[in-house]
Amino acid sequence: MFIVKSLLVLRKKIKKYHQQQKTIAFIPTMGNLHKGHMELINVGSLQADIVVVSIFINPIQFDNKEDLKQYPRTIYEDCEQLKKHKVHIVFVPNESSIYRNKIDRQTIVDVPYHSSVLEGETRPGHFRGVATIICKFFNLIQPHIACFGEKDFQQLLLIRQLVSDMNYDIKIISVPTVRDNDGLALSSRNNHLTCEERQRARNIYKILKKIKTQLLLGNRRITNLLRTAEKQFLESGIQPDILAIRDAYTLKPIKFNSKKAVLLFSGWLGKTRLIDNMQVNLLEKKDHIL
Ligand code: AMP
Repeated sequence: MFIVKSLLVLRKKIKKYHQQQKTIAFIPTMGNLHKGHMELINVGSLQADIVVVSIFINPIQFDNKEDLKQYPRTIYEDCEQLKKHKVHIVFVPNESSIYRNKIDRQTIVDVPYHSSVLEGETRPGHFRGVATIICKFFNLIQPHIACFGEKDFQQLLLIRQLVSDMNYDIKIISVPTVRDNDGLALSSRNNHLTCEERQRARNIYKILKKIKTQLLLGNRRITNLLRTAEKQFLESGIQPDILAIRDAYTLKPIKFNSKKAVLLFSGWLGKTRLIDNMQVNLLEKKDHIL
């Protein structure tokens, strides 16, 4: 496994792989790796000859300076974990090599609809930062496939739109959310939770599942469902930020003919902001859950 910092070295290695007609899978991360990231790597390695993982805490996608400062940096442990998986290159660039100009002069990529709704509304600039760094990485690495987690559902849709709009010849593979035994989605941010908050955090999955059950039973009183769920979150000591039931393809409110819904949650446990979501096949037969 090569740990590569330099863009020049990365380009040389990538060029060689392309000359050898090897297929490349790319998995972008911000480090502090857990089983969720490893699942992306496993999926990537099954589908391509070469696996490239990036670890880069992208400053321009943070809308909160404190959050950026607090983000866990565990590069040594991350590389040790990656060595045990089928990873060929870990790309760990410096901030200054990625953003050579002042950040306010950086060319910015925007996917206007996806970056302005829901999470985009509460985190201004976040998705522009994501789209910009992903374009940079796609240009540098020129992967054949790239793996993204369903955990960041809106991000996944944004990347698919970006790939389509910018004509990237890259297959985007989505990987289902990896969860702890009690249902909490694995996240680097879970490390920030106190023991007591961690206990309460399991309610996120429980409450989303309750809404899912109601939708599968044919309940379409969306406002009521959301109001009940909000109450349950607050009772569990979780302050919801975003709580929505949307069409999983468009992120717009579900219509009578929507095939798949997504329940989107983001919210606060103390000082930690967690996100999660759950997809619901609206065509699924109700008696499955009875
Ligand atoms: P991050 O390091 O948080 O930027 O995440 C890097 C990638 O890992 C993104 O595509 C995330 O959606 C994905 N990811 C993070 N947590 C999970 C999880 N629990 N299950 C599956 N994928 C995840």
